[in-house]
Amino acid sequence: MAVEKLETKDIAIIDRDLWEKVIAFHGHICPGVTIGYRASLYASKLLGLKFSEDEEVVCISENDACGVDAIQVILGCSAGKGNLLFHLRGKSAYTFYERTGGKSVRLMLNRPSRKMSRQEALKYYHELPDEEMFSAGPARIPLPEPAKNFDSYVCEECGELTGSNWIRIVNGRKLCMDCAGEYNRFNV
Ligand SMILES: [Zn+2]
Ligand SMILES: [Zn+2]
Repeated sequence: MAVEKLETKDIAIIDRDLWEKVIAFHGHICPGVTIGYRASLYASKLLGLKFSEDEEVVCISENDACGVDAIQVILGCSAGKGNLLFHLRGKSAYTFYERTGGKSVRLMLNRPSRKMSRQEALKYYHELPDEEMFSAGPARIPLPEPAKNFDSYVCEECGELTGSNWIRIVNGRKLCMDCAGEYNRFNV
C-alpha cells in the first residue's frame, strides 16, 4: 500500500532545521513523529534539556511508535546509550528525566478535539500550543539507574558470549536465553 505523502509547506514549524534532521533520521513525514518532536521540545523547555551526549537525559517511552525517533535525534536519548527505555503500554506518553538536577516530567498527549485526516493531524500537532497538546505531570516511574556493563559468559550450548544478566542456569549449565528455552508455567 502506498503511503500518502504529507506536506509541511503550509505548516508553522517551530524549528525547521531540527525538524528536517528528525525527518532525515525517521525517513518519512508523519503525525506520529511530530508528537515526539513536540514532546522533546516541550520537555526541553520545562526541564532545560539539551542534546544528551552521555546519559544526562533519560526518556522512558510508553510506546514504540514513530515519535520515539524524534526523541533520539533531538535529545540524544538512544537505544545504544541506554538512556532510552520502554515501558510499553500503548500510550502516547513519555517521561523525561534530567539526571544531574533530578528534575522530571511525564507528558501525556491529549486526545485530539476532532477526527482528522493525516495531513490535518500533521498541521494540528505542529501548531497546537504545548499546554493544549500535552498534559504535563509528575513521573510515575523512578529514575532508572545508569546503564551498567556486565561480565560475559560463554553459553554452554551454542558457545556464544552472553552478558551475565542474560544467562540462565539450567541443570547446572550456563545457557543463553535462546538455548535455555521458555518456562511459562506461571503464565496462568
Ligand atoms: Zn512515522
Ligand atoms: Zn546459547
